[in-house]
Amino acid sequence: MSGCITCRLTAGDEILPGGRISNTHHWVIEHCVGPLGVGTLTLKPMRRCTGLADLDVDEAAELGPLLNKVSSAVTEITCADQVYSCLWSHSESGPRHIHFVLQPVRNDQRASYGKGGPFIQTAMFEANEDHDPIAVEEFCDRARDWFAAHS
Ligand SMILES: [Zn+2]
Repeated sequence: MSGCITCRLTAGDEILPGGRISNTHHWVIEHCVGPLGVGTLTLKPMRRCTGLADLDVDEAAELGPLLNKVSSAVTEITCADQVYSCLWSHSESGPRHIHFVLQPVRNDQRASYGKGGPFIQTAMFEANEDHDPIAVEEFCDRARDWFAAHS
């Protein structure tokens, strides 16, 4: 079994709430397992890449359209005011398997945290609240339907 949780989630060796949402030949779309709220998706390469510079030509060619597509899905399903897109993928031991996080954020959330962007994410990680598993399942079902309708 891989030591990389990102690979284990892709391979089904780790519990993935909601199950896989969609994939292409090179990329996988899943619900985020971190505490960033229901509707936050991840987009990650199938292959273990630890930096954007590791992507090959075919992986890179799919990336732009997929970021647009995943962001569109999150926007339409959640009615978010903004969908953040970020790529940190850096652990204590160094660069790790990259995964974009696409997070729906409403204006009232931004107002309640006082600041936006990374400040909201930092506060959410510090609060470390578990997702409602039923809400994640329901979101993933809607997201699978969205991707099936937009393939
Ligand atoms: Zn990996």
